[in-house]
Amino acid sequence: MPIATVNPANGETLRTYEAMGEEEIERRLQLAEATFRTYRTTAFDERARLMHRAADLLEADREEIGKVITTEMGKPVKQARAEAAKCAKAMRWYADHAAELLADEEPAEADVKDSGASRALVRYRPLGPVLAVMPWNFPLWQVIRFAAPALMAGNVGLLKHASNVPQTALYLEDLFHRAGFPEGCFQTLLIGSAAVDDVLRDERVRAATLTGSEPAGRAVASTAGEMIKKTVLELGGSDPFVVMPSADVDRAAEVAVTARTQNAGQSCIAAKRFIVHADVYDAFAARFTEGMKALRVGDPMDEETEVGPLSSEQGVEDLVELVDDAVRGGAEVLCGGERPDGPGWYYPPTVLADVTREMRIHREEAFGPVATLYRAADLDEAVLIANDTDFGLSSNVWTRDDADVERFVRDLEAGGVYVNGMTASHPAFPFGGVKRSGYGRELSGHGIREFCNITTVWHG
Ligand code: NDP
Repeated sequence: MPIATVNPANGETLRTYEAMGEEEIERRLQLAEATFRTYRTTAFDERARLMHRAADLLEADREEIGKVITTEMGKPVKQARAEAAKCAKAMRWYADHAAELLADEEPAEADVKDSGASRALVRYRPLGPVLAVMPWNFPLWQVIRFAAPALMAGNVGLLKHASNVPQTALYLEDLFHRAGFPEGCFQTLLIGSAAVDDVLRDERVRAATLTGSEPAGRAVASTAGEMIKKTVLELGGSDPFVVMPSADVDRAAEVAVTARTQNAGQSCIAAKRFIVHADVYDAFAARFTEGMKALRVGDPMDEETEVGPLSSEQGVEDLVELVDDAVRGGAEVLCGGERPDGPGWYYPPTVLADVTREMRIHREEAFGPVATLYRAADLDEAVLIANDTDFGLSSNVWTRDDADVERFVRDLEAGGVYVNGMTASHPAFPFGGVKRSGYGRELSGHGIREFCNITTVWHG
């Protein structure tokens, strides 16, 4: 894949970049290591000052960087600006909380005594340069979610961003530089995916995090495994959205539309499979389909647009294949389902009913605005359908019954259970999945500690 900005609204190539060669990569690895040696000794206060400055700059740039994002990957410009604002919030959150999240921990006095120590503590020390392999779907947020905690912990970052968002990738390096972080604290490597392996094998790179597809995750995790390096993986999802009879069905249907179509449906935590109790199935299906049909699809630069193009031709082709396969297998198309003529990589909001286990769309991640509907006879069947997937990122349940909630929280195989609302990440809450959605956690105290050397300090 060439490293280039190609506008998804019309397929026009606007800018191409030469990939960095071996010498430039070596220079950057050296710089990362040299910077880490001194940066690791800086105080939390100093890091927080720089992180606040970076957050202020990003917020001030949101109009401009919003347009760059829209041009590179096609999300509606309003959503691109909101992404920048969300990043600034997470940066400030880590700036304000890192010292407390990474404060020394004192084991219980009895245990200290039992170990024969006069004193003992646990200290969170940084690991070193961390490689981040990131996707295009939230081209700022995915990176900041890694960079804010990593830099606050005293690590330095090396970003290998997706090849279709090079301008955003370069902007991020420049942002941290302008904020005053030492050169080498955060660097972008403009390289294709084939060059990742060598970088990961380099002994100066101490750990890696990847957000993206399963094949990419597997490739990075196997090399990291061979090299005995820590990884965090945030891969795909096919999150269930369960609606029970006691739910506010109108509200559930309204939120379901946003949960499925935000970012043109290209989100790992988008609700993708809608599992509805038979008692409210018809009412939900009608309202949901109405809402999906009413969405404004169009030019992502238009402030009124709710659903823009997908990020690539390949993305549209993958979706067409999944929908065609379902229709051949007997699924009913309640709306959408046909790729429109004309320029740009558009796909309409689509609802499929009568989806069965045999269809590919039941097993694979639909990375676009396509929803599948399932009818469940009762809570047990709803849980069975919800868990009948290789993924386990998050889940949404709609009910006013506390006993239902307890059952879902006990039984759903996912890294999150969102009750009467849609999954959304927040800096204070852990984010990540189980099963093939990956492992490790981002955000919160759990996220910042993933790339720390958790050190026991024992005094005799
Ligand atoms: P990829 O997983 O291919 O891309 C994500 C990142 O991984 C990019 O930086 C990519 O680089 C890099 N990468 C790809 N292959 C390798 C490899 N073998 N070794 C190291 N790095 C690699 O996602 P796509 O953009 O191709 O999307 C495909 C599907 O992945 C989507 O349809 C969706 O199902 C899923 N996906 C999930 C995301 C999520 O948020 N969980 C985000 C994006 C995609 P390069 O761009 O140079 O190829």
